[in-house]
Amino acid sequence: MGHGSAGGVCRACNQHVVPLRKSGWWKVALGAAYVGLNVAVCLLMFLGPHMVISAPVWLFGFLGLLGPAHEQATADPTCPACGKYFETAADVKAAPARSVAVAKAA
Ligand SMILES: [Zn+2]
Repeated sequence: MGHGSAGGVCRACNQHVVPLRKSGWWKVALGAAYVGLNVAVCLLMFLGPHMVISAPVWLFGFLGLLGPAHEQATADPTCPACGKYFETAADVKAAPARSVAVAKAA
């Protein structure tokens, strides 16, 4: 009982590789950052109007954390051999169907 097949053949370089996927911890970090943002907003309301002055500093600080965390959490898997976007067989099958649909629509 493993975690399924970890590897596949890279379309770009034809090597059997294990694609580099971003760690699931980035999604945990992203969730924690959103929770932190909510807690910060609640704290600012609780602490009173004099804290509103520092609110933009807090918000920009959290947005600075959220940006990279969101980027990492949603990043595409890449091939460790050639560094290109790693496409699986499912992606290859789906791509022509999509272009045919676009051609019909046009
Ligand atoms: Zn490759």
